[in-house]
Amino acid sequence: MNCPFCSETIIRDQQVYTKGCWRVFYNFKPVLKGHVLIVSKRHVELCKDLNADEQASLVGQIIDVQRMLTRAYGATGFCVVMQDGVSAGQSVNHLHVHIVPRVDGDMHKGEFYQSLLVDSTRRHPISAEEMQERVKELQVVVHM
Ligand SMILES: [Zn+2]
Repeated sequence: MNCPFCSETIIRDQQVYTKGCWRVFYNFKPVLKGHVLIVSKRHVELCKDLNADEQASLVGQIIDVQRMLTRAYGATGFCVVMQDGVSAGQSVNHLHVHIVPRVDGDMHKGEFYQSLLVDSTRRHPISAEEMQERVKELQVVVHM
């Protein structure tokens, strides 16, 4: 299976932590600093494919990540986005939820969705050094 979210490389380089059914990866093309992905440990494509445990724990996992991002970056709001299916803009066929920390005035109105949905191929990947730095700074606060 050639799935980027199941590859050992992403788990080694981008994983912040794991909990229960979920992994948390730092996005290599963040819309804003702190943009992470919640990814099911099991390879499933769509929301409807989640088992009962995964369904029951997803909202708790989102809240866990929000706490981490608040500690790390002082987020006062979050964009929580799941593109469920190719028609909705899903680009990796392994279920994932984008969590992006927000503060007042960080982007212009509508710019977030433009950047996430339309311009994703034009966003630049961060360097390996920055990836390591972001993953480490989140690992410091995740279990506080
Ligand atoms: Zn996968």
